[in-house]
Amino acid sequence: MNTVTDKVRRLMRPEILALSAYHVADATGLVKLDAMENPYVWPEPLKRQWLECLHDVAINRYPDPTSRALRERLRESLGLPAEFELLLGNGSDELIQLILMGVAHAGASVVAPVPTFVMYEMIAKFVGMEFVGVPLAKDFALDLQAMQAAIRIHQPAVVFLAYPNNPTGNLFDASAMDAILQAAPGLVVVDEAYHAFALCSFIDQLRRHDNLLVLRTLSKQGLAGLRLGVLAGDAAWLAEFDKLRLPYNINVLTQASAEFALAHAQVLDTQTAQIRVDREWLYDELGRLPGVHVWPSAANFLLFRTARPANAVFAELRRRGVLIKNLAGAGGALDGCLRVTVGTPQENTLFLDALAQALEST
Ligand SMILES: *Cc1c(COP(=O)(O)O)cnc(C)c1O
Repeated sequence: MNTVTDKVRRLMRPEILALSAYHVADATGLVKLDAMENPYVWPEPLKRQWLECLHDVAINRYPDPTSRALRERLRESLGLPAEFELLLGNGSDELIQLILMGVAHAGASVVAPVPTFVMYEMIAKFVGMEFVGVPLAKDFALDLQAMQAAIRIHQPAVVFLAYPNNPTGNLFDASAMDAILQAAPGLVVVDEAYHAFALCSFIDQLRRHDNLLVLRTLSKQGLAGLRLGVLAGDAAWLAEFDKLRLPYNINVLTQASAEFALAHAQVLDTQTAQIRVDREWLYDELGRLPGVHVWPSAANFLLFRTARPANAVFAELRRRGVLIKNLAGAGGALDGCLRVTVGTPQENTLFLDALAQALEST
């Protein structure tokens, strides 16, 4: 028999057949604290202004192919020194893909500390590269010796360092990152997706390291629906990745909306400042619950472990209307771990109450 399944099996690359698709949980009707979104919407007058601005967008025309006006605004908001360039992606995920497509060849590898953002490994596999995960040390600090050894052995084309790291929430030691930048024979991508909550950056290190690229996104800051990622670095690197970018990857609505949002950055800044305050409150409250261990975080989420099995606690929370992220299946250092995004004060309270009850009933 030659069923479609047989044909699929014969045609597809084995490493693609072996992958599972990136899973997004259904959040219908639940308090959504699973995806590091900013829980706040814009005030009504600002929404109206935004819609007025979209009214004049030429939806019948292709977008500006290089998003020139938006890049200028982003340059200002990042404080990017004049000699460096920006490349925009449909989310930073797309930029990770462009980088790896650019360097992939037989035998080329990617090194990253683990656990970390799963897309580094997934995209490495998409493009046929080897992914080498180097376990983090105690309390998720960088194991500099192990990183240096992996770099020596594998000579990676790219090292990814999420700063702060997802899903652990911590900022790696900057001097250890500096040593990795010195030791790496290829690129080092410092992924600052959570910059709005950590307020630390390697942008000002670009002058010191010609193998450094800094990745940002507007997603966690409050514009996850737009899909806009930003890569900062030397024009010589970005010009190569730009060749791999599909034409018009940043649509007109995203360009206009992101420009508008950056012109009113104060609103997002106030929201993210509130989230930073509430993160500290939630950290303290979580730590008070019996049997809960919570790790400090410089991002907009908290990683924690309970004395009760994580799978049962996760299911019980969902039954009580709260969706968080279950990392129990991720294994390794994340065994038994759960991750919660900092929501509004009301959502945080709902989560804490549901967790307290879940811990009693599981
Ligand atoms: C969420 C996240 C991203 C993805 O951002 P998008 O711009 O939404 O694609 C990238 N890196 C890290 C570390 C993240 O946690």
